[in-house]
Amino acid sequence: MATIEIEDLQVRYRRTVAVDGVSMRVAASEVVGLLGPNGAGKSSTIEALAGLRAPTSGSVRVWGLDPVTDRRRLRPAVGVQLQESTLHGSLKVDELLTLYASFYPDPRDPGELVEELGLTKVRRTAFDDLSGGQQQRLSIAIALVGRPRLVVLDELTTGLDPRARRRVWALVERLRADGVTVLLVSHAMDEVERLCDRVVLLVDGRVRAEGAVADLVREAGLPPGSGLEDAYLALVGRRPDAGEEGE
Ligand code: ADP
Repeated sequence: MATIEIEDLQVRYRRTVAVDGVSMRVAASEVVGLLGPNGAGKSSTIEALAGLRAPTSGSVRVWGLDPVTDRRRLRPAVGVQLQESTLHGSLKVDELLTLYASFYPDPRDPGELVEELGLTKVRRTAFDDLSGGQQQRLSIAIALVGRPRLVVLDELTTGLDPRARRRVWALVERLRADGVTVLLVSHAMDEVERLCDRVVLLVDGRVRAEGAVADLVREAGLPPGSGLEDAYLALVGRRPDAGEEGE
């Protein structure tokens, strides 16, 4: 059974069709990158996957379960890092991680995660007093503290300095080694090339292309050996409003 199975997903807001018939599968232990310009529907897809948003139509299954109605059963096994996490701002890094650890039957050691993410110096700092990059690393730690079998990461390393990015990459590489399934949203093509087995490229709420980097390069009509960034730009560029994403 696939870990993630999305069939003809539609997510519509009042005036906008954010996701317009997306189908995709992620097998167990795969690391898959979800790419696409701003407004392509990545966050809406991830929210549906995390059970935070009900699909307008179509279906989303995680290990065959419905993320909205079976949220309680899925919660212990799914770790989600969202772009804007609303955490208790006055709690310290240590306190927050210990609190989240207490929600799970077999949590990771918060101290170990703090170290792996380079947060040791700020472990007694309140969330509100952390820098943006530190807050982001903490949200990754929170997504991982319950030893999830599926991890969903939104804009994994956006805004992180080079050293912090390397730390987070190493963490994802360890998840891969442990057979954890990972779906990650990223705009950093080097990151995606390094970490992901496969890529799904969304444009205007639809799957524009999917496969390994070499598949996207071929689909874009570029010479073999071209990079993901060139393939991305070629595939995203072939539409009338290209270049107005305001990335
Ligand atoms: P991405 O994550 O790829 O940037 P989103 O899923 O956030 O894409 O957004 C897809 C489209 O849906 C965009 O046009 C966005 O403006 C719209 N949208 C996203 N969230 C909402 C919302 N809560 N209410 C109304 N429109 C939304």
